[in-house]
Amino acid sequence: MKTELPSYTQAAAQVSEFATRLRQTPPSTESVALGSSAGRVLAHPLLADRDQPPFPRSTRDGFACRAAEASKHKPLRIAGSIHAGQPPAGPLPPGAVWEIMTGAAVPAGADAVAMIEHVEVSEGHIRLLPPRLLAAGENIVAQGAQARAGSVLLEPGTLIGASQIALAATCGYANLEVFARPRVAILATGDELVAVDSEPGPGQIRNSNAPMLAALVAEAGGEPWVLSTAADTAEALDAALAQALDADLLVISGGVSAGKFDLVEPALARLGAESRGPHEQVFVRGVESRGPHEQVFVHEVEFHFTGVRIQPGKPLVFGEIQRSGHSARALPFFGLPGNPLSSAVTFMLFASHVLAALGGRDGGPRFASARLAVAAGKLPKAGLTRFLPASCDFSTSTGGLPELALVRSQGSGDLTALALSNCFLVVPEDARHLEAGDFVRILLF
Ligand code: AMP
Ligand code: MG
Repeated sequence: MKTELPSYTQAAAQVSEFATRLRQTPPSTESVALGSSAGRVLAHPLLADRDQPPFPRSTRDGFACRAAEASKHKPLRIAGSIHAGQPPAGPLPPGAVWEIMTGAAVPAGADAVAMIEHVEVSEGHIRLLPPRLLAAGENIVAQGAQARAGSVLLEPGTLIGASQIALAATCGYANLEVFARPRVAILATGDELVAVDSEPGPGQIRNSNAPMLAALVAEAGGEPWVLSTAADTAEALDAALAQALDADLLVISGGVSAGKFDLVEPALARLGAESRGPHEQVFVRGVESRGPHEQVFVHEVEFHFTGVRIQPGKPLVFGEIQRSGHSARALPFFGLPGNPLSSAVTFMLFASHVLAALGGRDGGPRFASARLAVAAGKLPKAGLTRFLPASCDFSTSTGGLPELALVRSQGSGDLTALALSNCFLVVPEDARHLEAGDFVRILLF
């Protein structure tokens, strides 16, 4: 009996639930120098080592004063001067102001800073120019207003970028405790594939998915582990899968369609069963004998889905292997259809989400809204959520949304189209046409 394939939304929800479960077991951690922490994931809370700001900080060049005194527009004596880096000065005598620079500590007794542009200075005195008034607190960030010493500024699971590095630096972190990068086995399959540095023979093509997936894995915070390409034989696939069992995530490209040489799904099932059995949505348990000592491994292989109503990428396979001898977590796997755009889209939609969770953070595909510049023409295959390579111009906006143009593509194998796009137009299952000016959703990458 053929069960109906899940929709994109259903499959995404399943992957999301799986990722949430993974997040309950945090990965191992390691310490990295602050300067090398970009792209890593924070494993411990980032704490304020002292109040932020550590003293009442002037946000302007001007004169620290009492707001009530300055607002009377009488001349006030300049009692001293302080610039950034000097210890806090004061106290401020009555009827006086203190010259102050941006970033300096406001002297005790002052409650506001009059901007230099707003005063008249003469003979050691200043006067706030009428009709301007000054309120208490103006141009001062109070000590601890941003954070109190000891408070949590960033939670574990935060992706570290330039701004998080700046915050960590201000709090005195020369090193950061981060989650270990998940090791992602990348297995390209196909008799037609040759390596990038080889001359393809007749009918052969270069393996572009492995380097593409390695780049996607690295971008999503994983450590790519590219395995040797597997031929389209049961023996080659069995050997490759046995090797991949050491990974944290397994991503296979090719061999999951319905063709005669699409042998990946049975090979995965064989990991968990001596003989091929029904494996959709069920546990299969089995014995695998390998090596000179006939050591017996028992793995459990579960397929969560073996297809999704999307295009490209319909034959996508997702499941997990409970490894014998590994008390740790199961090995999630994705069997991506081999067409380069199918591999790219399915990785971005699903595998990246699981990879993020394995790396200790919430991730997943990112969508945005755009406005279609030109009608999409005839749309293929209603009944599937479609993803069309597109280019979004984020520097323009019409009606508040960036303009989207489809990139001319000859189908799921068109790597030029992929390389010229910066997103995918998401065409809902029921949409039959999209007109110029329509608001649309895009998948960002
Ligand atoms: P498959 O999913 O194995 O049926 O492959 C579908 C199409 O994608 C075929 O035209 C393959 O030649 C192509 N393909 C499969 N694997 C790769 C790869 N690693 N690099 C580039 N193209 C591939
Ligand atoms: Mg193939």
